[in-house]
Amino acid sequence: MDYGVIDQIARDSAPGCLSIDLEALRDNYLSLQQLMAPAKTAAVVKADAYGLGAARIAPILYDAGCRDFFVAQFGEALKLRPILQKDARIFVLNGLQPGSKATCAASGIVPVLNSLEQVANWRRVAELKSTNLPAVLQFDTGMSRLGLSPQERGELAADPTLLDRIEPLFVMSHLASADEPQSVQNTDQQAAMRDVAAQFPGLDICFANSGGIFLGPDYRGALARPGIALYGGAPIAGETNPMRPVVGLQVRVVQTRTVSAGAKVGYSATHVTAHETRLATIACGYADGLPRQLSSRGAVFFQGVRLPIVGRVSMDSITVDISALPPGAIRLGSLVEIIGPHQSLEQLAADAQTIAYEILTSLGHRYHREYR
Ligand SMILES: *Cc1c(COP(=O)(O)O)cnc(C)c1O
Repeated sequence: MDYGVIDQIARDSAPGCLSIDLEALRDNYLSLQQLMAPAKTAAVVKADAYGLGAARIAPILYDAGCRDFFVAQFGEALKLRPILQKDARIFVLNGLQPGSKATCAASGIVPVLNSLEQVANWRRVAELKSTNLPAVLQFDTGMSRLGLSPQERGELAADPTLLDRIEPLFVMSHLASADEPQSVQNTDQQAAMRDVAAQFPGLDICFANSGGIFLGPDYRGALARPGIALYGGAPIAGETNPMRPVVGLQVRVVQTRTVSAGAKVGYSATHVTAHETRLATIACGYADGLPRQLSSRGAVFFQGVRLPIVGRVSMDSITVDISALPPGAIRLGSLVEIIGPHQSLEQLAADAQTIAYEILTSLGHRYHREYR
């Protein structure tokens, strides 16, 4: 059998279809860029563009005008480099790691420097190559995750020779509570960022993630780094989501049955039917990114009707109660909606007691992926 035929069969028999709306992605970028103008908007495409496929996502964003791309790891940057045009800049958030310094310099990938040790290492690479190398300087403004500490910041500001041969493109920090506009942590971090800017005058600021853009002009800086909002996630928790949905997920029914009252459903019999019930088994489980927390919580939809998940989420399947539908409405091979017009990514995440980020980055590789 030739591979074209196998592809076709694999698609037709796939347990479900993950659709990724590239036009919505583009619109989301453009609407964030409109808020940011005249400042710029980068794109965070770490973790394979939040699970959606960086190789498909990044070129669309480039065509929409994006020239700055952030990944978490150097390996991600190396994979992305040949996919994007020369004038695109790629930044590595996790900083300059021991094994990658020379390759980083040779490939033109820009490290985010997160400590004085990393600053010194980058300077040494530049000296060895007798060249100047670009970098982003990240400062910890109250998250204790990545970036120079306030003390290291003072040392760096006091001794400009530490930055010899380094061309800092931005001073950067990251907001820990940007999706909660009422949090005082935002104003604290904004004040700390202002101090950073005062200590390094003349350098552009890179500060806001998705939520930060919506906190207002004080948070936006010269370059924003949205991720989740590009992919249709809500930038502000609990508020109307201004972004267009990008991801849809439809999954097949692999079996239906009618059981009498008292039937045990799924592993450990955590659900027992109270009366005669029609059930459908759906072809996705925790191996496909449906958290086990959805056991007897949450639902799928069929023609707008809510079908609750009953019993435990298995590795490859979930079972839903379809009694609310007319008999015969759902059959072998029917597609039910898991993410779509009736159930947002945020709703699914809330039912699973997690966040949209975790749902997206956990979506498995068994679905057929359709880029529209
Ligand atoms: C992941 C990440 C972002 C993107 O955050 P969103 O909330 O998805 O917009 C921006 N900056 C840093 C440092 C990150 O780690």
